Parts: sequence; C-alpha cells; structure tokens
Amino acid sequence: MGNIDGDEREEETLVEMLDSEQAAAYISNDGALAKISPQFEERKVQIELLKNICSAFNKNLIGVFEAGTGVGKSYAYLIPSILWAIKNHEKIIISTGTINLQQQLCEKDIPAVEKILGKKINFILLKGRQNYICKRRLMETASVLDLFEDETQEIKRISDWADESPTGSKSEMPFMPSENAWTKVNSESDACMGKRCPFFNECFIMRVRKEAASANIIVVNHHLLFADIESRMNGAGYEDASVLPPYRRIVFDEAHGIESAATSFFSESLNRFNINKLISQMYRRRKGTEYGHLCSIAVFSKNDDKLPEAYELTNKIKTAFLNLEISAKDLMLSEYTLRLCQQTARAFGPFLVSAGILAEALGNFTNLIRIIMEGVSDEDKDIPSMWEAKSILRRLDSYVILLKNFGLWEEKKENVYWLMLRRLPPELNHSEASPDYVTLNQTPLDISALMRAGVFEEMNSVICTSATLSAGKDFHYWGSRTGLSFIEDGRVLCKSFASPFPYEKNMLFAVPSDAPLPHQVEYQQWVEMAVPKLIQAAEGRTLVLFTSYEALKNTYQSTVTLLRAFNGLIMKQGDDDNARLLERFKNDKESVLFATDSFWQGVDIPGESLSQVIIVKLPFTVPNDPVFMARSEAIEKRGGNSFMELSVPEAVIKFRQGIGRLIRRSDDRGAVIVLDRRIYEKRYGIKFSCSMPDCQKIYEPLNEITKKINRFIFEAK
Ligand code: SF4
Repeated sequence: MGNIDGDEREEETLVEMLDSEQAAAYISNDGALAKISPQFEERKVQIELLKNICSAFNKNLIGVFEAGTGVGKSYAYLIPSILWAIKNHEKIIISTGTINLQQQLCEKDIPAVEKILGKKINFILLKGRQNYICKRRLMETASVLDLFEDETQEIKRISDWADESPTGSKSEMPFMPSENAWTKVNSESDACMGKRCPFFNECFIMRVRKEAASANIIVVNHHLLFADIESRMNGAGYEDASVLPPYRRIVFDEAHGIESAATSFFSESLNRFNINKLISQMYRRRKGTEYGHLCSIAVFSKNDDKLPEAYELTNKIKTAFLNLEISAKDLMLSEYTLRLCQQTARAFGPFLVSAGILAEALGNFTNLIRIIMEGVSDEDKDIPSMWEAKSILRRLDSYVILLKNFGLWEEKKENVYWLMLRRLPPELNHSEASPDYVTLNQTPLDISALMRAGVFEEMNSVICTSATLSAGKDFHYWGSRTGLSFIEDGRVLCKSFASPFPYEKNMLFAVPSDAPLPHQVEYQQWVEMAVPKLIQAAEGRTLVLFTSYEALKNTYQSTVTLLRAFNGLIMKQGDDDNARLLERFKNDKESVLFATDSFWQGVDIPGESLSQVIIVKLPFTVPNDPVFMARSEAIEKRGGNSFMELSVPEAVIKFRQGIGRLIRRSDDRGAVIVLDRRIYEKRYGIKFSCSMPDCQKIYEPLNEITKKINRFIFEAK
C-alpha cells in the first residue's frame, strides 16, 4: 500500500484536478475559516489530511485515513468533496454509520463549508425508503380503519401530520409511531406503483429522488449504500439510477463500522413473529369470517375457487413452525446460540427435517397466492392488495430460501447458519404462548469479496476514515476484513493522523497491578470492590464499560449497595432509552453510567461529566459467538492464527474506541483505568498498549491508583 503518481483510469475523460494547496488555504491561518470563526486555530494535521484526500481524488486512489479525535476530519473531506463535485459536475456519496453524524453533516458542517468556500452546493440527506410515508398506502390503510381498531387514532394522527409535512420523513414526526402502524403506511419498493400511482406527482419518495438526482453531495448511512451496491451488483449496473443516483466516488466516514454494517445488511433472519405477521396480512380467519389481501384479490380473480385452500395451508405453516421451534429447543438445551457446522450437523438432523417441512408449507402458500394473483385481469391489476401482496411474497420467498439454505449449508459455505434462543419481554408474553422463541440466522462469513467487487473496483476513488481503523499501528486487520488487501498496492494510500489533543498532559492511564486475572474466580468480586472505590476517587463522572451484561448487572448492584451515601446518580444501560441515559449522564456532573455494547463507541460527552472511563475487561468477543467462531475457523483452515489475526485486532480496535470516550475536546482531562492486567502481562498485551495515545501511565496497586486519580482530576483545577 502506498502512493502513486498518476493513473490511466482518468485518461478518457477530462477531469479538473483539485489544487491541494488552494483547498488547504481555506482552513489555514488567514484563510476563509479563520475570517469567519474567531476561535479558529490552524491544525497542521487537518491540513495534511485534506491534502491527502485531494490526492486520492486526483489520482483515483482508495484513501484509508485514520484521524484521531480533534483532527477535524469532516472539513478535511467535505472541502475536497464539494470542490470536486462542483468542478467536475459529479455526485459524491458520503456514507456514515450513525444518524447523529448524518445530521451533524447536513445541519452544521456542510452549510459551514459552503460559507468557507463561498459556494452553494446541492446536498441532501437520503434515508432508506422505509423511512418515508407512502401516500397511497396511508390512504388505503385509513380507508379500512375499522379493521385495525386499536390503531385508528394513531393512523389518523399520522395522516393529519402527513397532510402538513413537506418531507413525509419519519424522523420529523413529533411523535414516535408504533412499528405496527408505521409498517402499514411506509413506502416499500415492491408495493410502489411508480408512475401508475395516483399519488405519483405528490409522492414524498419521488420528490426526494428528484432532489437526489440533482444533488452533488448525497449523505446516506452505510446500510442504504449497501442496498444500492447490492442492486447494482445484481444487474442494475453502475451507469444508471438504482436505489441511489449513479456515482463513482464515495467517502466512508465512521469506516470502522463497514464490516458490521455490510454483515448486517446481507444477513437474513426469521422467527415466528415475522412469519405470523406476513401470513395474517395475507389471510386470516376470525369467527368464521376471512380477512386479508388474498381475500381482496380473490374477489377480482378467476381463480377465486382456490381461496378456501388458504385456511388449511396457513394452519400447516403455523404447525410446521411450532414443530421447528420444538426441535430447535431440543437441540439447543441450555445454549442461547448454536451454529450448524460439522460438529453439530448430526444433532441438527431433526431440526433440518422440520425446516424442510416449513419451507414446503410456506412454498405451497406462496404458490396459492401466485395462482390467485394470476387470475386477476390486467385492468384490475392495480388494486392496492395486489401491490401489498407483491411485497409480502418477496419476503415469504426470501424465508423459503433461508430455510432451504439451512439444508444446503455444506454447499453454501459463504454464510454462517445459526440459531438463537430469545425470551419475550414480559409485556408481550401472552399466557398461551411459550416465552422463548427461536430465530434462524444466515450471516455472511466474509464481506471482503463483495466490498472489493462492488465498491473498490467500481469506484474511481473511495475515502475511508475513522478514529479507529488500525490495531497496533497496523491497518492490515481492517484491510483484510473489508477487501482492501485484494486491491493492487499502488491504488491504496493508508495513513494515520494523530489527534492534536495534549494527551501527555490531560490523560492518566492506569492498570491496577493487584487485580486478579479475569479467568480467576475472585476476579468478579474484586471488580465489585474496585469499581466503587474508583467512582469515589473521581467523585462520580465515570463511564464503566463492560463486555458482558451479566458482569455489568452484578457490579452495578454491589456498587449501588456500597455507595448508598453517594450523592450522584448511578445508572445502568437498560434503565431507560440510551439517548435519555446519556442526556442525564451529561447533565448530572456527578453521575455514573454502567454500559456495554454500543456505548463503547457511541458516547460523545466533552467536559467534566466524563472524567473517568473504567474498562473492566479487554473487549474480546465471546469465543462462542457463532459468526466469530466460523470466521476464526476459516482463518485456521487457511493456516492462519485466528487469535492474532482476528480476536486481538478486533479487541484492540474496540479498546481504542472505549478509551476514545474520555478526551473529546482539547481541554478535557481525566483517567482511563483498565482492570485487566493482561494488557501488561500477556505477550499480546503490547498490541493494546502500543495503540494508546502517549499519556501518563501507571501500573500500581489499586489504593495508589485511586489517590493519584483523585489528584490528577481535581488538583489540576
Ligand atoms: S409512488 Fe409509490 S411510494 Fe409514492 S405514494 Fe405511490 S405507491 Fe407510494
């Protein structure tokens, strides 16, 4: 991976190159940004990043740029992107992992860059079509409100709002619609009548597509981008509009999340609720009366004599699913997840038979739907139920394929097939149904080939940026997971841009030398003693990050008991909605938050409220995670070392994300404590310790650490 001086790819078209010095001048001393922003301070590292991004645009490179907190990466890619889009009349896609960043780009950063450049740019934040109201579906649903009695008020409220809304976008609704109501009125590609729709001219989707067609900058999330890439790879090609208008350059911000976003997009799953919902939308019989789209279609079909078969076929599906769940539970015993693989294949036998029976029952029902639909004459083909049925059929067909794929798992090695046993929340647990339900999952083993063929090889330039892409100062792990390592050397430019924040002065990193090792029985008890002491030392202001919810709950309980007299709020993930928890954590300076999962990377709280981050254990993925196990096995099979090639770098990146919660502004100050001695005592620990910013480090007994933390946080003030 390195730099190149030229590229033949642009020879055919006349391209206006970016002048990187001119572009950098906008964010230099005496530049346009300095003139409009009184607190502006030039950041050398931001200028350097911007110049590298200009170079990647000019030379058609794939730029992988790790930029620490405070580098100012959004301006560093927005300025070249906007200049390029204007000069070359091109579209640039900016894809992010979170809605927060999309909003920040569209509401703050792009308008600010427009001011700096003194140029207006056409830009749009585009969401997946399911986020917008479909006026036709809304009208149809509202016209049969008596069928959905409990949702009458809600649909009416949505309808009143849609009459006034200029966008029809769910995120702009002043209330949160229920999942049930929303899925009856949102836009669905299979249910869209396009030009034949009576609402075509006033359709929110058509309007937003038109805007996207004329926009130069389109901000999307990774998920929507993958939906577009998938349709292009499946035949739509790269020249015309598909889910998105055509484009040849992408900027991935929050690029550390590409693998998990692509994995989630290309995964399939199925449980009894998914199936029951679709089946009952098509056909249900209550007190001798039949309802559903199939009944509405049968009225117009010359094959209406087939309708009575629906009752028996839908019952067969329900029975088949019940049997499938029974065999899954027999198989799983006390496990929550179980992978179908060589070692479990024999035990999976009865389950696979049940899956085959369910696939057949579902297939018979979809055949019946098709037969009844085929009997509808051309002039009646636009009745609303026909469009709804198309959308439901597509999903039922995908379930049949998923069930059949379980049976073909040995041939379809590109996916991992696994089961998950989950428990219904008490409010949804109706007495007659089992509180446990099984989800069947199909997850891609590897998304690197797809990224290579669908993104890196097709795009002229791709910029991937994030604060955490490397592990142990090495991009190899991220590159191998995302397909970058398949791309010829000269096309890829990888660089790190360190945070300009004064970590040496403002961050203390401590590991208690008297902590037991995590595998020792006394470890959890020790954590339950240590965490309250550290919280007292920092007078609250602490985010405690766990890798397991069980450990979180136990530590939280003992902390609440031990710190009865503590004034600050002690909260844990799950007590409330994540956004509200974070708001309270931010506003109550002395509060403490116990968290796991998304909080390792989703917390951005500058100031004193977050003065201490406690990382309880190095964040290794649990070794019995089915997808992780399959990925590890694939590495071992090709002669690699899965611990060093997958477990360690993945954990290092997550560890860096956890540490990154502490210093969000240049004047933030505080401590990171890792209660896991393996960082200093195991050979692989060096990969973690050398991924840290340069800061003050101590490895001493807990009692010494608590004193030093207290002095570090409070005496400097
Ligand atoms: S054009 Fe499609 S999305 Fe728009 S209102 Fe009609 S059916 Fe709905």
